[in-house]
Amino acid sequence: MTVERTLSIIKPDAVGNNHIGDIVSAFEKAGLKIVACKMLHLSKQQAEEFYAVHKGRPFFTPLVDFMITGPVMVMVLEGNNAIAENRRIMGETNPVQAKEKSPHSIRAKFANTIDENAVHGSDSPETAQTEIAFFFKNGEICPRTR
Ligand code: ADP
Ligand code: MG
Repeated sequence: MTVERTLSIIKPDAVGNNHIGDIVSAFEKAGLKIVACKMLHLSKQQAEEFYAVHKGRPFFTPLVDFMITGPVMVMVLEGNNAIAENRRIMGETNPVQAKEKSPHSIRAKFANTIDENAVHGSDSPETAQTEIAFFFKNGEICPRTR
């Protein structure tokens, strides 16, 4: 087992629906620890840069527009296999699939459409590193000393 860090975003739909606590609780119950956290309202430029890998896809513009509709919570999660664990807890990208395949996942419980699907999670060690650095300076991440 490898202790990893990964970036999680609670998206504007889930923040707006008051599911911050439910989502944080799902991570904590699974043993992941929050080592950094802040709320912010992304600018269009930030959202475009964060999702640059999807530029050119048909859902890129709607995704950027959605991500700036309200504040988000950005968090660094730490734990054994945190990157895959976070993805497992999140569920499939499309909540319709998540409801079928992973009924206890965050997207099954708190998302209704593929456009507004409650959470983001890094998908590899490389993206985790880049995405954490996108939002947090080293000094803003708090090692768990207890
Ligand atoms: P994930 O968030 O599960 O890693 P992707 O990286 O493939 O999924 O896509 C990023 C985000 O773009 C998704 O979470 C979702 O909000 C949106 N998205 C992806 N695919 C579609 C699609 N086919 N239609 C609408 N939105 C999509
Ligand atoms: Mg992705």
